Amino acid sequence: MSQQDATTTPQAAEADLENLLRETRAFPPSPEFAAQANATAEMYERAAADREGFWAEQARELLTWSKDFTEVLDFSGAPVARWFADGQLNATYNAVDRHVEAGLGDRVAIHFEGEPGDTRTITYADLKEQTSRAANALTELGVRTGDRVAIYLPMIPEAIVAMLACARIGAPHSVVFGGFSAEALHSRINDADARVVITADGGYRRGKPSALKPAVDEALAKGTPVEHVLVVERTGQEVAWTEGRDKKWADALAAASPEHTPVAVEAEHPLYILYTSGTTGKPKGILHTTGGYLTQSAFTHRNVFDLKPETDVYWCTADIGWVTGHSYVTYGPLVNGATQVIYEGTPDTPDKDRWWEIVEKYKVSILYTAPTAIRTCMKWGTEYPGRHDLSSLRVLGSVGEPINPEAWIWYRDNIGGGKTPVVDTWWQTETGAIMISPLPGVTAAKPGSAQTPLPGIAADVLNERGESVPDGGGGYLVLTEPWPSMLRGIWGDPQRFQDTYWSRFEGMYFAGDGAKKDEDGDIWLLGRVDDVMNVSGHRLSTTEIESALVSHPIVAEAAVVGAKDDTTGQAVVAFVILRSDAVERADEEGEGADVVAELRNHVAKEIGPIAKPRSILVVAELPKTRSGKIMRRLLKDIAEGREAGDVTTLADSSVMDQISRGMQR
Ligand code: ATP
Ligand code: MG
Repeated sequence: MSQQDATTTPQAAEADLENLLRETRAFPPSPEFAAQANATAEMYERAAADREGFWAEQARELLTWSKDFTEVLDFSGAPVARWFADGQLNATYNAVDRHVEAGLGDRVAIHFEGEPGDTRTITYADLKEQTSRAANALTELGVRTGDRVAIYLPMIPEAIVAMLACARIGAPHSVVFGGFSAEALHSRINDADARVVITADGGYRRGKPSALKPAVDEALAKGTPVEHVLVVERTGQEVAWTEGRDKKWADALAAASPEHTPVAVEAEHPLYILYTSGTTGKPKGILHTTGGYLTQSAFTHRNVFDLKPETDVYWCTADIGWVTGHSYVTYGPLVNGATQVIYEGTPDTPDKDRWWEIVEKYKVSILYTAPTAIRTCMKWGTEYPGRHDLSSLRVLGSVGEPINPEAWIWYRDNIGGGKTPVVDTWWQTETGAIMISPLPGVTAAKPGSAQTPLPGIAADVLNERGESVPDGGGGYLVLTEPWPSMLRGIWGDPQRFQDTYWSRFEGMYFAGDGAKKDEDGDIWLLGRVDDVMNVSGHRLSTTEIESALVSHPIVAEAAVVGAKDDTTGQAVVAFVILRSDAVERADEEGEGADVVAELRNHVAKEIGPIAKPRSILVVAELPKTRSGKIMRRLLKDIAEGREAGDVTTLADSSVMDQISRGMQR
């Protein structure tokens, strides 16, 4: 839909998104934190005065260029931007080699914790050697600069080594999440036209080895351009072997030279292709390039998390199969010379305190995770973090979904000891790096709000007619200026690129998320535009009603959808997960019906009668993508009595059956 169409459709007459929930808590930075923070208020002024100059400074300060650039931004081919286009560099040189050259070879890059409890310590010097060997091994298999390599691995150090080995030779990688099926792997290999797959026999999940290699065999049997498969031996389980095609990773690396000169590529050389999470539909193959992407990943990692590479131990819990794992496990932290933890398994193996045990063990100081994980911990109860000394933590981050204010407070109180800054970071696979977030030490944080576009980033909230909404209003989130780490397209589908992001509002990037501005002009994310409900002519967002539900002490997690309703057009239908202690109480006292009535009244009280759910179903689990996001479209199918739609990115398909049965009762 173009902007023109938008003004003539019936929706144009509709009210804009309503601003419902009032959250007034704010947490200014402590003077001690502010005094030592990397980020400063002046950064905003500097970037506002000269956006391109600001990014050019960051690109030169944070990265080492083999050929300096003379040109900053070229947007003449909009919507495809070119940043620092006449400069040259290598991503792995920046992430690894230069730190070794600077005498930091002995610094730990990765503390690896396997699910069974095995550990490995990998220094920057080790990474240089391993990525060099792997780059030579890939070259030996015929991979050339520009060729695509698929990576299908568990969260083990080889995953990072594989990505960096590709980047060393300028071969774009396409990482496919290890939890995906052969089918998903097959379509991604073919879409990217990959010649080599790097995989493992398996990985450890929930206390047992889970196989990966069979899915690769199955995917390749369906027909792909793949000529070689490199297999990491992680679990030692028996795997089928295709002579001539399959090769052991360890053998290939052992046979390869430990010396390799990173290939300097142009700033706009493709670094990777990565598919979006598939929350709203068929995943999109997002293309990222080198110079701008690395600049913004490094800048945001340094300033949003206040990274001090000499002293911090950083841990991002994301899998490398997601963009968060690309920008905030592999590229951002390593370019910044950080020491980080990576953990292979699930948070409840062997018990629900595993993460907190890891934080205590490695003295993690910066933790970056997702609201889904935080809400799961809320469900499990404070007992688990309570078993461990978490006092090393000094910055907490959140990404992936709107974080409900109550979950934010729980996170700060129970994980952050009631003192750490919490940064709620809004961004997407498409944006490549964090776009909207508080800056620790600078911003007075508001629970539930991502607040402010970062220095050098321009965002706005528009109404149906494409006008900027005043403070207090709600509408559509857009990015109004190009940014360095922006996607350069959807792989092989320029039309979808244009239609999805650049057709809704003239000359602006349409993010697909609803948002509001509060009285101070701070931005609050309200969920997907596709999920907005229309109840008796009121346009209601999912996030605010879910947050109202989560603010009740017995609720850990909630999902809200609009279902067809004869009288109101749509009605609010909610699905809630109770906290463990509340479930026990309800079971003992047979309070099921009372709980629903109480929650409906609670929403009416917090927000207003218009938002009161027509029905509330207490469930044990919610349908989520493999990256942990709630798939509301499936709940909507159920609420409207339909067969659930495309479930290929759903993490656990039995969840939908359980919920359907609950609905019929
Ligand atoms: P698809 O585009 O295939 O439907 P997806 O949008 O879930 O999948 P991602 O790129 O992994 O794929 O997720 C980006 C989206 O996650 C954002 O558009 C937004 O809806 C949500 N999101 C991420 N961080 C935040 C945040 N801090 N607050 C609110 N929403 C967030
Ligand atoms: Mg998306």
